[in-house]
Amino acid sequence: MARSIQENLAAGSGQSDDVEQYDVVVIGAGVTGLYALYRLRGLGLSVRVVDEASGVGGTWYWARYPGCRFDSESYSYGYSFSEELLQEWDWEEHYAGQPETERYLNYVADKFDLRKDIQFHTRVKSATYNEDENRWLVEATDGRKISGQFLVTAVGLLSAGYIPDFEGIHDFKGPWCHTGRWPKEGMDLAGKRVGVIGTGASAVQLIPMIAPEVAHLTVFQRTANFCAPLRNGPIDKETMAEIKTKYPEIFRACNETAGSFMHEFDPRSAMDVTPEERLAMYESLWEKPGFAKWLSNFRDVTVPGEANEDYAEFVRGKIRERVHDPVVAEMLVPKDHTFGAKRVPCETHYFDTYNRDNVLLVDVRKAPIERITPTGVKTADAEYDFDVIIYATGYDAVTGALLNIDIYGEGGELMKDKFVDGPRTYMGVSCVGFPNLFTVNAASVGNFVRAAEPLMDWVAECIGYVRDNGFSRISPTLESEDAWVKHVNEDGEKILRTKHANWFNGGNIPGKARALLTAPDTAPAMRAMRAKVAANGYEGFVLK
Ligand code: NAP
Repeated sequence: MARSIQENLAAGSGQSDDVEQYDVVVIGAGVTGLYALYRLRGLGLSVRVVDEASGVGGTWYWARYPGCRFDSESYSYGYSFSEELLQEWDWEEHYAGQPETERYLNYVADKFDLRKDIQFHTRVKSATYNEDENRWLVEATDGRKISGQFLVTAVGLLSAGYIPDFEGIHDFKGPWCHTGRWPKEGMDLAGKRVGVIGTGASAVQLIPMIAPEVAHLTVFQRTANFCAPLRNGPIDKETMAEIKTKYPEIFRACNETAGSFMHEFDPRSAMDVTPEERLAMYESLWEKPGFAKWLSNFRDVTVPGEANEDYAEFVRGKIRERVHDPVVAEMLVPKDHTFGAKRVPCETHYFDTYNRDNVLLVDVRKAPIERITPTGVKTADAEYDFDVIIYATGYDAVTGALLNIDIYGEGGELMKDKFVDGPRTYMGVSCVGFPNLFTVNAASVGNFVRAAEPLMDWVAECIGYVRDNGFSRISPTLESEDAWVKHVNEDGEKILRTKHANWFNGGNIPGKARALLTAPDTAPAMRAMRAKVAANGYEGFVLK
């Protein structure tokens, strides 16, 4: 609930002796938070990063389930800001797993001496803007407080795990967890009867990894997904040496594509070539690693229509080829959404796993989960007994982690109330009534590090501009915020991502407002827009 102005000012007075004062407080020590610290410290600012975890990594710290990895090429995912770092770090796999990425982020933290400015074991409960002082007071759940003139929420895009509100979750007698909060000590699954709920990108990675070690695995699927083979592999020394000579080219290529990935669409229409040529292209893409079969495809495969359906049918055929039992194969073949309307998970042995004798696929669209029992899961037509339950049920994306913090702006306005019908921001990064706050977690999407670096550069330059020009606060105008929200909603309607319930549009969370949570624009367009805003003296913002 919002606070009165008086309550807000009282709560937000950070002047007492026990409140440490910084120029900038950054919430989150993940990919963006680490770079924010490096970048802002480089401007001579005092910065404090706070994070709930005991180490760096953010999402890469928490999501340590077996098989967790990214689908971006490793060498396109690393930071680009330090040539020395690029030359020192050897990626082991083309698509690095969570342990390698966590090691990388620890290496970065050590190399740039970041840890000394990070306060671990600190979960932020609230942040309050004091308009008399133009400062943010950040309060942790253990009562500790710190204050900063600026606040950067680097809290992650996919970090607030979502578990459906099943009755009886806490009655289950065995261990259970969400993929995004996998225990550091691991889960003992060997020889156990395990139930996995969900078949999104996380489950698609987890399932083939655990199937060989468990006694029996039951997968509860509501929506079958268009998954494509990842085709991962180790990077040998010679290849890594060659990659190191090509970083400028790699980053240039990423910067030119819509999602900052190393894959560019074919400008032709799938329907302008012969069926033979089309099939040859599909087959050749299918053999390529990573997102090529999605993002290097004919341009019109990415929009609803004939080309999209033609390719969808090709992918369905690939799934049918892999799964021996035709009934199970049909359950795994997506028929209720357009190819690409949901994020395409990359897989390794996922479909083959359903050929194992110890794996059962259950359709919970037909017979939904009714409740969790002390011994397992009850659906509308059967009961299943388990030793362990794993929820691979996704995330309250983009706004989830942000709004889990009680953020009080001017006049005690609560951000949760402001965002009740969807995010209300200017360029995803800033909103009216919440001066000096940069919601960087809500503004980057695509190949994550490629998006996070330039965004954080822009924020750092903006903070530098505010201070160097003798201003003490910056916030957008209502007109610019209104125009941005209108743009997101109207142009968002034109893109595939809004055509089916998924995390990009809030449709995966019952009761969450259905609105595109990210920009509908390409990465180059977003960078150009921000650059223009900066060049015009932070057009659309009010500086005081
Ligand atoms: P997700 O894609 O949202 O999948 C959640 C799964 O849980 C879906 O299968 C969903 O079914 C199911 N589910 C939700 N509520 C349910 C209910 N009440 N009953 C039955 N099933 C239910 O989440 P995710 O797999 O964690 O992936 C989220 C995103 O994280 C990905 O899209 C990707 O961007 C990122 N990620 C990336 C990687 C990678 O780089 N390889 C790996 C993991 C995650 P419905 O589809 O029917 O809703």
